Amino acid sequence: MRCPFCRHADSRVVDSREVEEGQAIRRRRSCSACGRRFTTSETMVLAVVKRSGVTEQFSRDKVVRGVRRACQGRPVDDDALQQLAQRVEESIRAAGVAEIPSHEVGLAILGPLRELDEVAYLRFASVYRSFSSVEDFEKEIADLRKAMSDKLGDESAHGE
Ligand SMILES: [Zn+2]
Repeated sequence: MRCPFCRHADSRVVDSREVEEGQAIRRRRSCSACGRRFTTSETMVLAVVKRSGVTEQFSRDKVVRGVRRACQGRPVDDDALQQLAQRVEESIRAAGVAEIPSHEVGLAILGPLRELDEVAYLRFASVYRSFSSVEDFEKEIADLRKAMSDKLGDESAHGE
């Protein structure tokens, strides 16, 4: 890493600390030529392995773009999409693996999306799970209804 002031190639680390709960390391460096200090940051790269075998860096933006399509015309704003993407990333990182197949990113999206908006969830799930018939939708909707009534049941039980 070259010094941003004088372009000298050599520097020494004067301090390093973990940030973002250990997901990144920040180092304070001192240039051995001009003596000025600068900061570098190292982040653990979370790689997504596509079906073709190609890997690319996990990107929240990509999650947002994928989900936004399913949310067209739905009352879901950008903040909600950003939060969803953050939850997806957190759940993937919590699994503690450095590489994840792309279909598992899709899986990680389904849960939070279902909580966010049911219609968007059905749209996304229909593409992701490649629904091929009306029965596929009917089954998914039945599951959704069941999950909802279970939840309502829980809430009223707690209320009493
Ligand atoms: Zn320098």
